[in-house]
Amino acid sequence: MAESMLTVEAALERLTAGLRPTEAETVSLADVLDRAPVDRAVTATHDVPPFANSAMDGFALLAADADDPRLVVGESRAGGPRPPSVGPGTAVRVMTGAPIPPGADAVVPVEEVDERGDRLVVRVAPARGAHVREAGHDVPMGTQVRLPRRPIGAATVALLAALGEVRVPVHRRPRVAILSTGDELAALGAPLGPGQIHDANGPALAAAVRAAGGEAVLLEPARDDEAEVESRLRDTVGCDLVIASGGVSVGRYDHVRTVLERIGSLDFWRIAVQPGKPLAFGHVDGRPVVGLPGNPVSALVTFELFVRPMLRALLDLPGDGRIHVPARLTARLPKSAPRRAYLRVVVAADPGADGYRAAPAGGQASSQLLPLVAGNALLIVPEGLEAGEAGATYETILLEPVA
Ligand code: AMP
Ligand code: MG
Repeated sequence: MAESMLTVEAALERLTAGLRPTEAETVSLADVLDRAPVDRAVTATHDVPPFANSAMDGFALLAADADDPRLVVGESRAGGPRPPSVGPGTAVRVMTGAPIPPGADAVVPVEEVDERGDRLVVRVAPARGAHVREAGHDVPMGTQVRLPRRPIGAATVALLAALGEVRVPVHRRPRVAILSTGDELAALGAPLGPGQIHDANGPALAAAVRAAGGEAVLLEPARDDEAEVESRLRDTVGCDLVIASGGVSVGRYDHVRTVLERIGSLDFWRIAVQPGKPLAFGHVDGRPVVGLPGNPVSALVTFELFVRPMLRALLDLPGDGRIHVPARLTARLPKSAPRRAYLRVVVAADPGADGYRAAPAGGQASSQLLPLVAGNALLIVPEGLEAGEAGATYETILLEPVA
């Protein structure tokens, strides 16, 4: 079981199966941007808009009344005093957003009248209801509004604000512990000694966690030492998820997998994917632990494929939240194994066709970060193929906007 190679889909199913969304917490409207809404209806306690108002600057009158010229008996402005009533032979000057005066049923824009002192000649007769925004024409009182299951954006903030909602229930950001492992990792900010490298995965995974809506808890990196890895993994009480990187393979000093097996449980550790074949998943004291491969590109790509959907499940959001588009590959992209590959590409609009094209973003070794930075997408070459062929179309996952 632990030795079997899983498909990406099967792995994803197992990784997310046991996850329950975090509990709700209430935040103010000012802090709600990008938070995951709790999936329940918001009831409109009043009409939006709350009263009938004018869509134009003009004059409110009775549409059926052709009694010109008519007398302008007052004005109605947004937030102003209650306007006088309108009857046959009269009109009230109205501004955009101002209440429609009692008795009026239409607004004539200022451009369609002639004003002569306090008299008004209507040049274009309005239809009944013209330029009147009825109370509740946007959201009638009592409507059960369901927010879309995606991070809250400005449009939803506008709707919540218009409804008068100032405290919004959202899912608590999942707390994610991040552990880098390896004797070769230099201390943060320290100059490199012989054989040392900077820890790229810790800061990178912390950033990826935050971008996915989580709260990152960056642990002190562990040396390739079973006891140290064990103590770090145990020291994650209160976290919803633990991500380790490095030490998950079959190398002599790869301890994450063995420690998981010994102090908790190991559910599997190989996935038919490139980059990222060695990937461990298990539990320590009930907390899910994902062991990602150590190469920074592998760590980030497997985070994207497996951990990001886990974070979204913890936020009760569906899928990976990414846009997938088919794109025509501009140059052959060989891959090194029959496993399904996720290759680093630049996707752009294809001027010749009605879609997108994808150009290789650079070298595809899992130790090469530059192409991951230069690219904006992952191109999926299905299992069994030797390469992505020039001119063929493949599914891509957009990680950044298309230029
Ligand atoms: P491992 O999976 O521990 O065998 O690591 C595979 C490769 O990734 C090795 O070249 C490591 O030096 C490198 N690596 C592991 N962890 C990190 C890290 N936190 N930052 C940068 N490179 C790493
Ligand atoms: Mg290592």
